Amino acid sequence: MLGVTNEGPQARVLIIDDDADAAEMLSRRLGVRRISATRASSGPDALRLLKEQTPDLVLLDFTMPVMDGLETLEAIRKHYSAAELPVIMVTAAGDRQIMLNAIGAGANDYVSKPIDFEVLMARVAVHLRVRSEFRRAMAEQGRLQRRLDNRARLEELGYGDTTKRNHLVEALRRAIATDEIELYYQPQLRLRQRTIESAEALMRWTSPQLGTVPADQFIPLAEDSGDIGMLTEWAVARAIRDHSALAAAGHRIRFAVNLSATVASNAGLVDRLLKQIAEAPKAISLELTESAIFDNPELAIIKLRRFAEAGIRVAIDDYGTGMSSLSYIQRLPVHELKIDRMFISKLTSSHRDPLLVRSTIELAHALDFEVVAEGVEDADTLALLSVMGCDSAQGYFVGSPMALPDFTAFLNAPERADQQAPFDVTSFLRTAIERNG
Ligand code: C2E
Ligand code: CA
Ligand code: CA
Repeated sequence: MLGVTNEGPQARVLIIDDDADAAEMLSRRLGVRRISATRASSGPDALRLLKEQTPDLVLLDFTMPVMDGLETLEAIRKHYSAAELPVIMVTAAGDRQIMLNAIGAGANDYVSKPIDFEVLMARVAVHLRVRSEFRRAMAEQGRLQRRLDNRARLEELGYGDTTKRNHLVEALRRAIATDEIELYYQPQLRLRQRTIESAEALMRWTSPQLGTVPADQFIPLAEDSGDIGMLTEWAVARAIRDHSALAAAGHRIRFAVNLSATVASNAGLVDRLLKQIAEAPKAISLELTESAIFDNPELAIIKLRRFAEAGIRVAIDDYGTGMSSLSYIQRLPVHELKIDRMFISKLTSSHRDPLLVRSTIELAHALDFEVVAEGVEDADTLALLSVMGCDSAQGYFVGSPMALPDFTAFLNAPERADQQAPFDVTSFLRTAIERNG
């Protein structure tokens, strides 16, 4: 937001104006106020740019050939509300009707030519502030909604009543102390190279009283009780230890640890995790869901940048289930997209999903992301993903989550021994089908 001292640009503005000199001058003056400006010379040009990146505010010239300001504004408003993307219309002096038309078509404000720069800056500041407050409110609503969902989920699982929940939380805390919690590893197959270079770390709780409690039952509880932070620090430490053990046995495997939204928004915790991982950046990568990022996008970008600078790889988890577009994610320093299993499990039976997955892979590659498909449960899906150029596959068909000894045995298995051979889909499928019975 304006007025906050920070490094880098405070905001991004898109200037849409056919007059190159005027736009250039304006963009230079905005630059002095640490606002970075992108320029578009026409309406169609601007709409193309908006597909790739969303600015924080638009300055739109009213009089343009081809597509005038009003038409451009109408096209913008089909995709972005006035709260999401403020537009300030630049009109000729004194034309009251134009000004009214602009406001009617969804402009947030207007300034008239010749532009009084101080007035423009004051208006820009107001609209950026409103927009950032709107975003904060949306994020807060998201957080509340997640907390409610979490509570509903706990209720569903039979932990609705407080006493029962407290018991379980107690049990969970003891479990951490008594090593009832373990990390299981689920292999990720690189499709072209036919190698396993990474695995997702997934928590398992085996309790003498409760039996095996799956992650999606106790993680919501730990998030609700605040224990997820401690659990995550434990998971990172354990994964680093297991990484070293595997390295000693000749396997270099990077482990992907999940970061909950509640963890990602805790600044102190993120700092500690960063320090922990920075000592072994090749051992650990992180998986964050979109909601973990959108809780607080500004903070998330700063944190993500620090992860990136420390050489830590970050993946967007469950991609496709959230609201964000690839064009927004493109602005984040992340390396990988994990397409949610919802799209992968129906890949060979649905008509729509293959197109969606293929275009996601293509677009992701164009933006320099690697793509991991999760929830690969059969040979056909794996073969189809290979053809689509997906980089890696994860799922029961490649391998279920396994305790470290089983995972080591999996890596040592004969069909994995010849990892130098070029990827041979047929032979991989054959061994995988045998393994899956
Ligand atoms: P996730 O990150 O989406 O993890 C993938 C989940 O899909 C895992 O469930 C995994 O066992 C399951 N899965 C793997 N392959 C297949 C497949 O082929 N088909 C199907 N249907 N499912 C498959 P799990 O282990 O029960 O974990 C559930 C969720 O709990 C995870 O979802 C993750 O959000 C969370 N979680 C697990 N471990 C941790 C952790 O250490 N920290 C945090 N914060 N969250 C964790
Ligand atoms: Ca995950
Ligand atoms: Ca996932």
